[in-house]
Amino acid sequence: MTDVDLAVRLLRTTPTHENRPESQLREWAGKALAYGDELAGIEDDGEIRVVDREGGAGSRELLLAEHHRGTVTVYSDSLRRVEELARAKGWPVTREALRTAAVAHELAHHLLDVRELNRRLGHTALRFGPVRVRGHVAGAEEIAAHRFAHRRSGLAVSPLLITTALAGGN
Ligand SMILES: [Zn+2]
Repeated sequence: MTDVDLAVRLLRTTPTHENRPESQLREWAGKALAYGDELAGIEDDGEIRVVDREGGAGSRELLLAEHHRGTVTVYSDSLRRVEELARAKGWPVTREALRTAAVAHELAHHLLDVRELNRRLGHTALRFGPVRVRGHVAGAEEIAAHRFAHRRSGLAVSPLLITTALAGGN
């Protein structure tokens, strides 16, 4: 399964997209992935503080990392959960690489320009006569951030595939 296929699945399960045509979701997925690629190629200072903390894994939710005011917190219990999944799947990824990808994912959220992403996606939410109101495509930022994390971390497995597997969709 390609990243476009996985991204389409992610969009499909996102509220407001359930009944959209496949071609529309494919187009958005492709554009969001391309934006992630482009962003990953732009030089930034890479200065980010990373702290590790216990927890993150609830019974129903998994919080791997979060970004707040220039600091990324990585949750060790969640990281362990992802590590176990990767081992069970036989994926050649180390804990360190998963951690790097998790940090990069948060950095992507910090760096990405939602308005620019929306402009590229070109989704019209409303139209009042000649006035077009640009819409937000839910899930697109996640797709861009996953691709960014993949590019920056060099992870052997696509973060989109890992996310799909964690959601039980694989
Ligand atoms: Zn995210």
